[in-house]
Amino acid sequence: MSKPDISRTKSAELYEKAKTYFPGGVNSPVRAFKSVYGTPLFIEKGDGSHIWDADGNEFIDFCCSWGPLILGHNHPAVREKVTEVMQKGMSFGAPTALENELAELILNNNKYIEKIRFVSSGTEAVMSAIRLARGYTKRDKILKFEGCYHGHSDSLLVKAGSGLVTFGETSSAGVPKAFADETIVVSLDDTKALDGAFAEFKGEIAAVIIEPVPANNGLLLQDKAYLQYLRDICTQNGTMLIFDEVISGFRVGFEGAAAYYGIQPNIITYGKIIGGGLPVGAYGASAEVMDHISPIGSVYQAGTLSGNPVAMAAGIAQLSELLKPGFYDDLHSKTARFVNEVQQFVNERGYPVKLFTIGSIFWFAFTEQERISTAEQIDPASMVKFKEMHRELLNRGIYMGPSGYEVGFISSAHTQEDLEITKTAIFDSLDIVFG
Ligand code: PLP
Repeated sequence: MSKPDISRTKSAELYEKAKTYFPGGVNSPVRAFKSVYGTPLFIEKGDGSHIWDADGNEFIDFCCSWGPLILGHNHPAVREKVTEVMQKGMSFGAPTALENELAELILNNNKYIEKIRFVSSGTEAVMSAIRLARGYTKRDKILKFEGCYHGHSDSLLVKAGSGLVTFGETSSAGVPKAFADETIVVSLDDTKALDGAFAEFKGEIAAVIIEPVPANNGLLLQDKAYLQYLRDICTQNGTMLIFDEVISGFRVGFEGAAAYYGIQPNIITYGKIIGGGLPVGAYGASAEVMDHISPIGSVYQAGTLSGNPVAMAAGIAQLSELLKPGFYDDLHSKTARFVNEVQQFVNERGYPVKLFTIGSIFWFAFTEQERISTAEQIDPASMVKFKEMHRELLNRGIYMGPSGYEVGFISSAHTQEDLEITKTAIFDSLDIVFG
């Protein structure tokens, strides 16, 4: 039976105020609950796998700040390291040993990059990687895929037009057409479209950028063979392959999707997990490629708060936990068990729901298709079912990201008990959605 909606008195009051301060009441659009029922919950605190909102409602959290919190909220190792470093000052605009420490942690344990540059967000990492690829190849065009999100820089807020290979159309007001004209957009999982693009723009494409684990428009898992095809066609054409690992980096394994698929990109971008919940992004490549960046190279990129000591401290503490033996095995097997059990329930009931998963990421698709590898295969009408499930789950103390196109994340803080409670809530919610 449907449960009554949770009380939202304080959150609703805060939201009313927020709407007078911020466009739509939020500082990032998806937080506004536009795709689900109700108004946004204002979160007061988090601990482990749980969060509490302003009205005192408690939830098991599967949004995990959209991915960064692979250890859950307020992990003691992260909190203690940040608190220790904060005592010495917040920012210097000069190098600190902490930047070396985080770089060493990463570079000593990742054979896919030799040098790294820290920035303050995933958007910045990707924007800088694109500039590096353009500066290195002395070409202007980039190719991206429909359904992959790479942050909100101008060149990347571009979606496919109609046709197999298209110049992009802007997906935001304010992006000059001239910028979108430099971005080619093709479907994922389509080697013919790639061949077509490389034939049409021979010698012009600086970089192909892909989320090797596309996780921003559902979870559009690609075959290794397709990613290898991409690697090969880039190599044959002198085009740089950029893996945007802002989500997959440190998530599907410490070395991210590059190691998961065993494919060497030319540049890799990181964000989210790398900063332990504080604003950090990064991009890395071979030393030869990275040395094209200022101050020794001609590609300019800078940042007042880049390598911020407090943010570095959070990253060091979090990544150190990830390197402990068995970390990923435990997390991945816990996730696989959870997803299998939910799928089994769904199958027994005969509901048209398929859970896609990799590592500790999962996505609910309201479909009967066994495989979804392109954005076009998602039926927008199916999002109504997600919306209903989201409401039922919230009312049962389960917090998922407020959009059916978003994936869920499991952290090392999620206990077996949390997952049992969540399964029961999902079963009850789906019975209502399909009842
Ligand atoms: N790239 C990918 C794959 C992302 O998922 C995101 C954010 O969700 C970004 C880039 C942008 O990162 P940020 O939101 O930190 O700017």
